[in-house]
Amino acid sequence: MSTDLNTISKLADLQSQRSKWRHNNQIIALVPTMGALHEGHLSLVKLARTAASKVIVSVFVNPKQFTQGEDLDQYPRDLAADLDKLKTIGADLVYAPDVEQIYPKGFSTHISVTGISEGLCGVSRPHFFDGVATVVTKLLLHCAPDIAVFGEKDYQQLLVIRRLVADLDLPVDVLGGPIVRESDGLALSSRNVYLSKTDRQSAPLLWKALIETRAQLLQGVPMQQAASQTSEQLIKAGFILDYFELCDARTLAPIHQYEGKPARLLIASMLGRTRLIDNISVIG
Ligand code: AMP
Repeated sequence: MSTDLNTISKLADLQSQRSKWRHNNQIIALVPTMGALHEGHLSLVKLARTAASKVIVSVFVNPKQFTQGEDLDQYPRDLAADLDKLKTIGADLVYAPDVEQIYPKGFSTHISVTGISEGLCGVSRPHFFDGVATVVTKLLLHCAPDIAVFGEKDYQQLLVIRRLVADLDLPVDVLGGPIVRESDGLALSSRNVYLSKTDRQSAPLLWKALIETRAQLLQGVPMQQAASQTSEQLIKAGFILDYFELCDARTLAPIHQYEGKPARLLIASMLGRTRLIDNISVIG
């Protein structure tokens, strides 16, 4: 299937398209992305399709979620390739604003979701979730979707956005889509292109560590003990671990021993110059 795909960069054009759709009682879904699209992103677009009659995909590399020394300048960008992929799966509109459209001169507001954004990735990247919450709020206001779809790949981010939407009474349903993986278990990520050949071979060990640790947790082994064995293997393979935590699946409060309540095992690590994150549900 290949369809026409309207690409819009100006808010006024987006608003005009959106009012036409609203007038025709269309259900609109938004899938926010930073581009460099892969099958993980496309799975979210497909999920959005099942829930809505019109699907907007935003492509915007958000400078506010990067800090100095991070990879904003090197972040992969290829809008033409993104459009080709989106055409084949039936997205209806791509919103690709430039930085000035989202952050006009003098922009001084930021959205900060406290609590849930403070642990895990919020420790080593303290700027990150404010950047995400700010841009997602703007994208939701610009696109005014009925549904917004995010990946469980960024599990903490998904919960931060659910909190944001609940706290601000934003009229949108948030859907989470499952993680799409390579056949060897590595979670798809736009940043995987940074991996050297050797690091790419080691990268699936992160997924293996999650699976092995989960098996031990389900047998009643405390998190610290379960994680120390698998972490050791990762460190030997060259990973520099940022965190490896078992958390309540809804609040992300740390858990020391799995006791049957829905939990999530989350991990983040540097491998070479690439930051990898992954997570898995723990339900006995
Ligand atoms: P990004 O372009 O990395 O900001 O990601 C845009 C959206 O795609 C986010 O909601 C991510 O959680 C989601 N996403 C990224 N990688 C995957 C994956 N492997 N499987 C499912 N969703 C993903």
